[in-house]
Amino acid sequence: MIKFLDLQKINLKHQKEIENALLATFRSGWYLLGDKVKFFEQQLASYCKVPHAIGVSNGLDALRLIFRAYIELGFMAPGDEVIVPANTYIASILAITDNKLVPVLVEPDLETYNIDLNKIEGKITPKTKAILLVHLYGSIVFSEEIKVLADQYNLKIIEDNAQAIGAVWNNSLSGSLGDAAGFSFYPGKNLGAIGDAGAVTCQDDDLAACIRTLANYGSQKKYINQYQGYNSRLDEIQAAVLSIKLRYLDEENNRRKEIAHRYITEITNTKIVLPHYKIQENSHVYHLFVIRTENRDALQKYLELNGIQTLIHYPIPPHQQQAYSDMNELHMPITEKIHNEVLSLPISPVMTEDEVSTVIHILNNF
Ligand SMILES: *Cc1c(COP(=O)(O)O)cnc(C)c1O
Repeated sequence: MIKFLDLQKINLKHQKEIENALLATFRSGWYLLGDKVKFFEQQLASYCKVPHAIGVSNGLDALRLIFRAYIELGFMAPGDEVIVPANTYIASILAITDNKLVPVLVEPDLETYNIDLNKIEGKITPKTKAILLVHLYGSIVFSEEIKVLADQYNLKIIEDNAQAIGAVWNNSLSGSLGDAAGFSFYPGKNLGAIGDAGAVTCQDDDLAACIRTLANYGSQKKYINQYQGYNSRLDEIQAAVLSIKLRYLDEENNRRKEIAHRYITEITNTKIVLPHYKIQENSHVYHLFVIRTENRDALQKYLELNGIQTLIHYPIPPHQQQAYSDMNELHMPITEKIHNEVLSLPISPVMTEDEVSTVIHILNNF
C-alpha cells in the first residue's frame, strides 16, 4: 500500500540525531523555557528573516495569541472583523471567534484554492481590522496590492503559515510577508514535531513581547500577572527535534516539489484538474498535492482498491459545520464546489520514484 504520509519513515531518516537530542533533553532536567526553545526560536527567526519568533504549544494557539495580543495592545476589540478565506481549515476560524472577533468569509480562487485577492476590498467595513491570509496546501497567497490595501485601510496582515513553511515570495519567506504569522509543527506538517508544537513570527517588538507574555500565564516575571493569559509554551523536547528537522526542511521541500512536478507533468487524465502553479516558482512547498474531479468519491474508492491512500482537505467547510450554525445559511458556491471535488494524493519527502510512478499510472487509468 502507498500511504498518504509515512510519518515513521520521515522521522526515522533522522533517527540518530533525534534520539540523541531526546536523550540529552531528558537528561538535562530542564523541560520548559530553556536553551532548546531559545535556540529554535533564533533559528526559526533567522530562517524566515524576521525579528521575532516565539515558540508556542500548537498552530491554533499561535493564531489565537496573535489576535489576543492585538486586542491587549488596543489595536482590535471584540466585535471587530477579520477577513479570512471560506475554505480554510477550521483552526483559522477558531482563532478568530475564540477572541470574540467576527470572521468575514471570502470565497477562494478556484485555480489556486487560496483567498481571491480581488474579493477582499469589497468585504472591508469600518470594523475590519485584519486579513488572515492562509497559505493553503503550502502555496503562498500574497501581492503588492494587498499590502497597499492593508496600509490604506489600516489593517494587519496575518499569515496562517501552518502549511507553507519554506515557501518563497519575491525572495521573502512565508511568515515574513505580513505583520505576524502563525506556524504549526503538528507531526504531519512539512516541519513536524513528535507531538503538538507551534510558533509565531512577527515584526513588531511590542507584539512579540505581548505574545510571549500571554503564552506564559500573562506573566513576564514569575507570579506577577499582567494579563489573563494562557499556558501555551513550546516544550524543550519538541524544540530540540524541530531544530534538527529545520536543517533538512529545504531539502525535504525540494523533494516534495520534484514529486509535484512529476504529478503535474505526467498525470494526463483529463477528468482530473491538477493544481495550478502559475504563481511563482518557489511559492508552493506542496504540503498537500490536491487534485479536483467531479467524481471525487468514486476516484477515492478506485485509488483505495488499487492500494493508494488519499485524504480530503477538507470534506466540510467551516460555514457548514455545526460549530458555526450561525453561518450555516451562507452560500459559498466556490468553496462548496472545492469541498465536494478535492482529493489529496500521497506526497512526502520519503516517497520513492516507484511509488510516484504507480500513483501516476493508476490515476491515468481511471
Ligand atoms: C494545521 C493547521 C492549523 C492548526 O495547527 P495545529 O498545530 O494543529 O493547532 C491552523 N491552520 C491551518 C491552515 C492548518 O493546516
